[in-house]
Amino acid sequence: MSLPEPLIRLIEELQRLPGIGPKGAQRLAFHLLRTPREQTDRLADAVREVKERVTYCSICSNITDADPCGYCRSESRDHHVICVVEEPQNVSAIEKTREFKGVYHVLMGALSPLQGIGPDDLKIKSLLARVGNGVAEIILATNPTVEGEATAIYLARLLKPLGVKVTRIAMGVPVGSDLEYADEVTMHKALEGRREI
Ligand SMILES: [Zn+2]
Repeated sequence: MSLPEPLIRLIEELQRLPGIGPKGAQRLAFHLLRTPREQTDRLADAVREVKERVTYCSICSNITDADPCGYCRSESRDHHVICVVEEPQNVSAIEKTREFKGVYHVLMGALSPLQGIGPDDLKIKSLLARVGNGVAEIILATNPTVEGEATAIYLARLLKPLGVKVTRIAMGVPVGSDLEYADEVTMHKALEGRREI
């Protein structure tokens, strides 16, 4: 028996999501089919709204529903210290520590020659443009992975000649892991133990 066309389409779309294989997509699709209409409407609305209302900050590239974002606009944050991370979700990990009072810069990835991701694919030019303007320190908080390390070294080489202090977070975070999954204590130690490079 072949499935109804709309259901096949839903399965195909779900399968495009990360971490969802053909079986998972089918299971989700049948689950949604059984779900009450108002609940699936809420899901569809949430998906539509996130695309319509969430955008990227023109200064730091973090996700926001107002440009510039809350961090870049804030008068209580220290705009002389910029913490550089790979992805927007890394900002939340650092915010959870409640220790960091500076501002952020989201690269939108890390250098990865294997995946064809070079410097021009990341928000590096906009980072360099922020140096000057009294920036005193740039904390490189890219992930402790091969790509994250390579990105930190690359950035340090670009930034240091500009006369800004460049630090790298301490590797209390397990090597090869994503900052997204670091707990608050680990993240706090990583920030506190940062060293100049
Ligand atoms: Zn911003």
